[in-house]
Amino acid sequence: MAPKLLLTFVIYRLISTVGLTLDTTDLLRLEVDGHLSVDPSDVETASVDFGMMNRVEPLAILHPSSAEDVARLVGAAYVSAHGLSVSARGHGHSINGQAQTSSGVVIEMSASKGVRQWGLPRVSEQSRYVDAWGGELWIDVLKTTLEHGLAPKSWTDYLYLSVGGTLSNAGISGQAFNHGPQISNVYELDVVTGKGELLTCSEEQNSELFHAVLGGLGQFGIITRARIGLEPAPQRVRWIRVLYSNFSTFTKDQEYLISLHGQPPNQKFDYVEGFVIVDEGLINNWRSSFFSPRNPVKISSFGTNGGVLYCLEITKNYHESTADTIDQDVEALLKRLDFIPSSVFTTDLPYVDFLDRVHKAELKLRSKGLWDVPHPWLNLFVPRSRIADFDEGVFKGILGNKTSGPILIYPMNKNKWDDRTSVVTPEEDVFYLVALLRSALDSGDEAQSLEYLSNQNRQILRFCDDAGIKVKQYLPHYTTQEDWVDHFGDDKWTLFSKRKMDFDPRRILATGQRIFKPTAASSW
Ligand code: FAD
Repeated sequence: MAPKLLLTFVIYRLISTVGLTLDTTDLLRLEVDGHLSVDPSDVETASVDFGMMNRVEPLAILHPSSAEDVARLVGAAYVSAHGLSVSARGHGHSINGQAQTSSGVVIEMSASKGVRQWGLPRVSEQSRYVDAWGGELWIDVLKTTLEHGLAPKSWTDYLYLSVGGTLSNAGISGQAFNHGPQISNVYELDVVTGKGELLTCSEEQNSELFHAVLGGLGQFGIITRARIGLEPAPQRVRWIRVLYSNFSTFTKDQEYLISLHGQPPNQKFDYVEGFVIVDEGLINNWRSSFFSPRNPVKISSFGTNGGVLYCLEITKNYHESTADTIDQDVEALLKRLDFIPSSVFTTDLPYVDFLDRVHKAELKLRSKGLWDVPHPWLNLFVPRSRIADFDEGVFKGILGNKTSGPILIYPMNKNKWDDRTSVVTPEEDVFYLVALLRSALDSGDEAQSLEYLSNQNRQILRFCDDAGIKVKQYLPHYTTQEDWVDHFGDDKWTLFSKRKMDFDPRRILATGQRIFKPTAASSW
């Protein structure tokens, strides 16, 4: 079909499906350089996400080839009589339909079917930054910057996520204690607001929009370009895991390691994470491909009598020119820790292989049909003062001895987070990420079913509530505005709502987050 004819068809489909008197002339004048699609396979892709727990069909999909395309569509939606909704979709790796919309258009920000419609990331070696398209995947940002001997400083564990998607949340991994989350490492953004304006923003220019969008859950604008700070790329990584049977020793050591953030590079680790091992299977599971399959690790061999073990995961980056001191530096740091002495597992690998480690696991799971399954994930920020209560109540209590997926736990320093952004964290100097990354399987084992795991998540949230543990959800999911107000707290909610009024007054953006009801829709 000729592009003009297809576009007309799409617009009329929008009108007939919504049953509204859209300002058709405005929409028909929409000249996009990319393309609008109602192709069933495009609709199918945009209807689901990694969580695989919600299926919501959009009316159409825009594959933009420029920020101007995004602005044209949002601008047209903004002036439409009944407020057509528009959701940017990064790589669709949300859990609860956050990038979906039922009464509007999904903008596929990442390359669809491998087709790139925009330029490669552009690196400034002199000023040490990269300008990346909002839908760019972090793996491609990394590949480009490495060609210049540079790399971003703060990461997520998995790199097949989009720049705009992680910056709309925070973007965290084991480097966050040192560099802050990804949103603390952004210099400038181009954003299409809910009014269809394309604006550049930074600390100095349109700063309210800049801070609103970072951690803003897609509510204030669509990020079309992000300028991200870079550092000289390390060449290799010494990757170490050590085990603990005592929770308070484990967290004491984790907190000690993150307290070293201000020290010279050779006197601190570059990455601090950890995970909980409550069942025998997990230690040799997908995140643990680290341990040799020929040499499986037995929980019981560490004298826990089948109890819970905690694994501290740390890395030291290095350059071949400093290779002669790496052993010494690592040894000096390990000496100050109190792990089970016989439990040191070490490997050494290229920097890119370390950063891209979860992709290897993904390929393995895909080959077994275990990737495209429901993921009832729960991510919580837990205040340091209550992490021991969380351990007693959840890891040693509610979870029993089956976990159905990795459970990450690591602390971060609040002073590396900027309070002016939209993200919410607990009111303590140090807080933990606890990530229950579980997969539901149809295996006949009730404890692996979606219903069981979802109930367990509710039980965990109820436990925190009853025990007065003031957790904050990361990648939050709520379905009522009352819960959202609770999540943000009164002051931040007042600011969040005001920003919504200023930047997306018709509430047409990212309706899949279910924070604000779109002006004209009866459903999300
Ligand atoms: P999507 O799911 O497509 O979108 C997320 C939200 O952002 C939606 O509301 C969407 O409308 C909005 N959005 C998307 N693009 C834009 C844009 N350009 N401008 C404005 N709004 C936009 N997170 C971490 O922090 N650390 C991790 O280590 C980590 N590991 C993960 C590992 C896996 C295997 C998976 C599946 C997820 C992981 N995540 C992690 C979560 C991830 O950060 C979120 O899923 C996030 O939403 C990014 O995914 P996405 O790019 O696919 O965004």
